[in-house]
Amino acid sequence: MSRHSLKTLQIIVQDDFLAYETRELARLFYPAELTLISVDPNIDETTPVPTLGLLCYSDRAGCRFFCCLKTESHTFTESWFIDGDRVKNHSIDFDQKLFKRDFKKCLFKVMQQWRPRQLPWGILTGVRPVKLAHQLTQQLENDEQVKDSLETHYLISKKKAALLTEVAAVQRPILHRTAPNRVSLYIGIPLCPSRCSYCSFISQPVKGQHDPLLEQYLQALLIELKQAIRWLIEQGRQLDTIYIGGGTPSVFSAKQIHQLMDTLASIYPLHQVREITFEAGRPDTLTLEKLRELHQYPVHRLSINPQTFNDSTLANVNRHHTTHDFYQAWEMALAEGFSLINLDIIIGLPGEGIQHVRHTLKEIEALQPTNLTVHALALKRSSSLAMIGDNQRLDDQTADILMDEIEVMAYSNHMKPYYLYRQKEITGHLENIGYSLPGTECLYNILMMEEKQTILGVGAGAVSKQYFPAQDRIRRIPNPKSIQVYIQRMHEVGFHYKDWESFHK
Ligand code: SF4
Repeated sequence: MSRHSLKTLQIIVQDDFLAYETRELARLFYPAELTLISVDPNIDETTPVPTLGLLCYSDRAGCRFFCCLKTESHTFTESWFIDGDRVKNHSIDFDQKLFKRDFKKCLFKVMQQWRPRQLPWGILTGVRPVKLAHQLTQQLENDEQVKDSLETHYLISKKKAALLTEVAAVQRPILHRTAPNRVSLYIGIPLCPSRCSYCSFISQPVKGQHDPLLEQYLQALLIELKQAIRWLIEQGRQLDTIYIGGGTPSVFSAKQIHQLMDTLASIYPLHQVREITFEAGRPDTLTLEKLRELHQYPVHRLSINPQTFNDSTLANVNRHHTTHDFYQAWEMALAEGFSLINLDIIIGLPGEGIQHVRHTLKEIEALQPTNLTVHALALKRSSSLAMIGDNQRLDDQTADILMDEIEVMAYSNHMKPYYLYRQKEITGHLENIGYSLPGTECLYNILMMEEKQTILGVGAGAVSKQYFPAQDRIRRIPNPKSIQVYIQRMHEVGFHYKDWESFHK
């Protein structure tokens, strides 16, 4: 059935606490733009359910959830009793996470009765599923119990439960070695040579290498960078990892890259930083001169992103480079001595079927990279591709087959999965996943994704995350998203010390 012929699904929930989770879970089964959610504290099991409607009621005193979904032809119901031990121990009121989990299970079952769908991540709707595996590892005795809990309590498939525990096991020693006074730095450069049609990021295209915006942005960035790092040093903090990302940082000229790296090196001893990554996302922006600039400094890793090895797809998605550009950049980088190079690819690009992705995999395998990051395309409303028809999208089953083939290829080339995250509207309800040869994991990716260290983000659209180890929580501190507002703010105000008031030694 096409989206145009679908009716609005009216959802009634009892309180705000469950409204968000209901919306997130329901969107796995029904288009989010066609759901209407209302909160009514007076509902109970006898409340009439509209046609096409969903009623979600939780009887906390009786420790029970009830979900009822009514269509023109059927009524589906599901009720769920909260775990007996937790009721006995009177712990349910204090354990909102478990309360939410059980509610989601009840809702998941009723939605599956109505619109059955293969959902390998079960009731999980968040971005960071590995966090759950880490939490369960602390509570349970071994990985087998963790896997069992993921399958039983979160309805995650066997395959994904095994993947999560494996990723968590790779990350554990890395996270244990994280010193509390260390901070990672993210330098955001949201400028690109053109805008990819699937992009939902704030990145702005520049008009060639002489676009004045490049220099204006760099000068604003340097103001924030100098002030932020000096302030960090005053706080007694040390830089653990640096990630220069975007956008496309390699869109800067060699002279501008020199200015950026030289400024960094003049205020901080870069050889003490455990890892520095530079994203050269668009292969056509990388030159020998730029690589030589980077090589003067301890830049450990590059990311060069072919995305696909099919030229017609690259042209379709408005990436102004070819596979030939990629090979040139790759060979130049190797010849200049960069051995840690990540390649990003995307599955689910418009018009790409199983054979296109298999071709990409064949090319990747021949290159034997140390790191490979696989994205399952997620089309957000702000991307120009958001409205492509279903005939242009990869179906769930094919996406799943391809993810499995990538995994087989990665393992047979001695790579292991080391970080993963999920997004809304992701192809095949899958995940984005990073593979690496053991010992070459990108530390920044792990620290940033698992939120176990403070990340100081500079640049337009960068979001700093202040980590409070005692409560194991983070506070987000966003920079302005608009590049023009950011540039103006840096010249007028500079680094926003006030946002970091509670950041003590
Ligand atoms: S390279 Fe990345 S940030 Fe730049 S336009 Fe493409 S998807 Fe967006």
